Amino acid sequence: MGKSTSLSPFYLYLILIILSQVSSFLAADDSVYGSFFHCLTNHTNSSDQTSNIVFAQTNSSFSSVLRSYIRNARFNTTSTPKPLIIVTPLQESHVQGTVICAKTIGIQMKIRSGGHDYEGISYISDEPFIILDMFNLRKITVDVQNEVAVIQAGATLGEVYYSIWEKSKVHGFPAGVCPTVGVGGHLSGGGYGNMLRKHGLSVDHVIDAQIVDVNGRLLDKESMGEDLFWAIRGGGGASFGVIVSYTVKLVPVPETVTVFRVGKTLEENATDLVLQWQQVAPHTDDRLFMRLLLQPVTSKVKKGQKTVRASVVALFLGGADEVVTILEKEFPLLGLKKETCIESSWIESVIWWGDFDNGTRPNALLDRNYSAKFLKRKSDYVQNPISRDGLEGIWKKMIELGKTGFVFNPYGGKMWEIPADTTPFPHRAGNLFKIQYSVNWDDPSAEATKNFTTQASSLYSYMTPFVSKNPRSSYLNYRDLDIGINDFAKNSYEQGEVYGAKYFNSNFDRLVKIKTAVDPENFFRNEQSIPVSPRLQSAAENLLQSSLFQKLVLSLTCLLAFLNNAMLYS
Ligand SMILES: Cc1cc2nc3c(=O)[nH]c(=O)nc-3n(C[C@H](O)[C@H](O)[C@H](O)COP(=O)(O)OP(=O)(O)OC[C@H]3O[C@@H](n4cnc5c(N)ncnc54)[C@H](O)[C@@H]3O)c2cc1C
Repeated sequence: MGKSTSLSPFYLYLILIILSQVSSFLAADDSVYGSFFHCLTNHTNSSDQTSNIVFAQTNSSFSSVLRSYIRNARFNTTSTPKPLIIVTPLQESHVQGTVICAKTIGIQMKIRSGGHDYEGISYISDEPFIILDMFNLRKITVDVQNEVAVIQAGATLGEVYYSIWEKSKVHGFPAGVCPTVGVGGHLSGGGYGNMLRKHGLSVDHVIDAQIVDVNGRLLDKESMGEDLFWAIRGGGGASFGVIVSYTVKLVPVPETVTVFRVGKTLEENATDLVLQWQQVAPHTDDRLFMRLLLQPVTSKVKKGQKTVRASVVALFLGGADEVVTILEKEFPLLGLKKETCIESSWIESVIWWGDFDNGTRPNALLDRNYSAKFLKRKSDYVQNPISRDGLEGIWKKMIELGKTGFVFNPYGGKMWEIPADTTPFPHRAGNLFKIQYSVNWDDPSAEATKNFTTQASSLYSYMTPFVSKNPRSSYLNYRDLDIGINDFAKNSYEQGEVYGAKYFNSNFDRLVKIKTAVDPENFFRNEQSIPVSPRLQSAAENLLQSSLFQKLVLSLTCLLAFLNNAMLYS
């Protein structure tokens, strides 16, 4: 008898599995869109509205909607993973429906407001995903009498500043200096700007919030409870729900403020300037914020050589005469002259800090266009002044690397008065300044990305002796995936602890407890979200294992039925 050509049941089973995987892969995009659309229509009771807010990959506007809020060119390439669907809610019920439907069909949901996440985690993922894009929900209501504003998550900081200025010339809000940054990510991650020494972080002024939780409920401060309200003021909103709005208390700003910029290179004694800056900037009058920019540049004195330029960029909440008097005494090496100072209204100072041309009108703050660069950012905290030897070694390293610079942001003032556990943002007393590592480039090649990201890592590694330890701290809003990623597999808690301790220090444990209570199945997850507690994780693993076992039994039953049928009809 010849050798049998029939397949053994095992191989038949394997082929069936592969075929079913291939066909389900091919049908996935369509079926996700179909199921999601159907589900959301049921939740909003209108298929017309649903078709206007749900964009499948085949929709002609899909690419432009996706790209509109990509703020790092590194993640705007053909190989960047794309969402299966983008949903752009127009009202709260659309957000609620999206959460419920994404959960029902079991797909990951990324939440995007302004899209400024430095690692793009609001709009990319390695697993199939959809984006909930909040840019339409951008209403801002300013109540000057009560000094309060209700700000929807999709608003930009520029829109916030403009809306306050429209109603009052003596109120402002302490938040970031880049006007296109989104409120949803910025406020949920802390949020700081040039008023942080006087007024602290954005989250220090949040008095209420609206969030859609994992069950699709729209909650406010009272109904979400103290813990969740604490978590979404610096713990990152995306681990806990969808922030729909924040209610914030406005701060007073004087009618006249002063800005200035003074720069010196190493040949002009920048090292002495930086040494003195470290003594003054975190301790001076809390109305004065003096950011220090350090950049490797081409020397104008020594031909063909590189040097480092140190620039002090400042905001003083008061007049020029006063700040000149303060700095003549405290910071003589700066040599600040009144002619270098620009007195202006607070809103004009916002425009000046935003790097707009002289004379630009405040309505420029409403412009959402942004030309995205290729970029990489990292962060550190400095708790002891860096010595002269230390600085000289750093300059050498910066010059050797060529392009990566630093932004030193001084703390002190209000930042040291607020206890480290008042909000999840823990970097308060004891920190002299925060470092941002910064490198931008234009070359789209993979080699350029590798070169510049490696540069930033190399500088970060060089800085180890000068920065905080145990943990080496980082700022959540300066997202940096180099410090740890979660794959939400077996060691999810341990993985989360690595980056969680850096971002939140000892507040991490409370965040884990809150996460476990409000989202035990970890629907709201991303590469660096808060994991659920390990005890709950092992219970979930057991469940997963038992459901895998159920799937195996189901598949075997199908196979037996198939074989049975095959024999009947052969
Ligand atoms: C040019 C530039 C300038 C910056 N300047 C400053 C600065 O001066 N000060 C400062 O503190 N930071 C600054 N940042 C960092 C910035 O604060 C963070 O990147 C912030 O998270 C951006 O918020 P977003 O809504 O624009 O970003 P997104 O990319 O939309 O979101 C960032 C994170 O928040 C989550 N998220 C967004 N919206 C929601 C929501 N509605 N509910 C729940 N989760 C949400 C996202 O899923 C993601 O995890 C700057 C960034 C850039 C690119």
